[in-house]
Amino acid sequence: MLQQPAKPMTSIASPMVPQLRVVPNVPSEKHKKLLSELEERNRELESSTPEEIIRWGIERFGNGLTFATAFGPEGMVILHHLSQIDRSVHCFNLDTGYQFKETLELRELTKQKLGIEVELCRPDESVAEYEAANGGPLYQTNPSQCCFDRKIKVLNKAISGKTAWISAIRRDQSPDRAAAPIVGWDDKFKLVKINPLANLTKGDIWTAILDNDVPYNPLHDQGFPSIGCEPCTRPIQIGEDERAGRWSGSAKTECGLHSLDS
Ligand code: SF4
Repeated sequence: MLQQPAKPMTSIASPMVPQLRVVPNVPSEKHKKLLSELEERNRELESSTPEEIIRWGIERFGNGLTFATAFGPEGMVILHHLSQIDRSVHCFNLDTGYQFKETLELRELTKQKLGIEVELCRPDESVAEYEAANGGPLYQTNPSQCCFDRKIKVLNKAISGKTAWISAIRRDQSPDRAAAPIVGWDDKFKLVKINPLANLTKGDIWTAILDNDVPYNPLHDQGFPSIGCEPCTRPIQIGEDERAGRWSGSAKTECGLHSLDS
């Protein structure tokens, strides 16, 4: 069961909110075996290249493998590798309705240049319906709820029936990501999570993009090193952290996909 984000400070508390029952998470023998396999593979793959890690994921999980991308530089490197290894791996984007037009254009370019059609997975409600139902844009008053409704819920539908997902995170992007294994169990989404780029630096990513003529979001040349939804992303200044432009001015640093506790 996914944890709901905190209610906004302005909400009126319901006097009779039923409490969720916490079911003890006792791993079955099968799951214990999987965890032990993942531990072993994680050790083996720690010094492998991203291509080798992706190949292993494809061989091990077949059609059960999926890749979630926001078309960031790291995601484009994964898409480049997939275009050379196996274009049939399912790839999807969480299309919140608030993405930059440049991001959606990059999805088209990815189809043309890399031959991969990334599925756009959308929330049930359009932006207009969602804002009307919430008295305006929730990203201004409760971005965690907005991310939960327009990303996490959609992700849960998108991964239904899947057993493993590739993520494009790097360990040096943020403290939340510093402990990411190459392969491990993602207890939040109940999937095996494969991080082929965990060991790479920002420099490695841009070298791969430029050396291989991989398409990328033109906003990166305009001061946006990390790009999410338009209302929650600003360009950064020299010396700022590369994710400083995400949810700037709030304590929020992750949308909940790659953090352990949100
Ligand atoms: S990043 Fe901003 S606009 Fe996008 S889902 Fe989260 S809060 Fe909403």
